[in-house]
Amino acid sequence: MTFFVLQNPKADSGDAVSDFLPIDGAPIGDAPRCDVCGKYVGMCPLLPPVRIELDGWGSSWGDIAFGPGDQVLISQRLKEAVAEAGLNGFTSLDLAEVVKVRRRRKSLSGNPPDYWLAAVVRSKAMLEEGASGLERDVGGVCSTCGLGGVIKRVRRVVLQPDTWSGEDIFFARGLPGTILTSERFKSLCNALGIANCSLVGAETFGFDHYPQDFR
Ligand SMILES: [Zn+2]
Repeated sequence: MTFFVLQNPKADSGDAVSDFLPIDGAPIGDAPRCDVCGKYVGMCPLLPPVRIELDGWGSSWGDIAFGPGDQVLISQRLKEAVAEAGLNGFTSLDLAEVVKVRRRRKSLSGNPPDYWLAAVVRSKAMLEEGASGLERDVGGVCSTCGLGGVIKRVRRVVLQPDTWSGEDIFFARGLPGTILTSERFKSLCNALGIANCSLVGAETFGFDHYPQDFR
């Protein structure tokens, strides 16, 4: 099985980069915690009614817009396509009211699409730390949520065999904040030309929060 990582494109790359912020005073829920160790496994979710400020950085609006937390906005078009294809992994979809629109380029015309705030499922899929080249500072690791210490770097994303149960878009245990997708999700996005959707192969995705270690 091949997986992909949904990346938040940089604000100066791509032609449909879109992101959002909740308006001040927006209702938020409690951050989810591990049942066993109590560590936070995600960020505080925005709750309905969802009211946002939208920023467009390209010459068209994205079908996906990224925000400060674990939820993403998806366009009406993407929402319908996901439903029609029978893909799963969004645990809630709440219509977002766009209170303010910022166009960072004059060439960005037209109104944004209807957007839905999508929460992504926390899968039982578990990161295979060794195969992923994960390094962390000291800290015992919880076998339930896969968290412990601070992740310093990850060189690729490999999941433990038989832990993924078929979600098409999901978070894996041990790798908070990184949205993974199935091949089916990638194929759908490619076929429809879903905008502002950067999916890189899990084998080639990585990050290093401590590059100074190698200086
Ligand atoms: Zn835990």
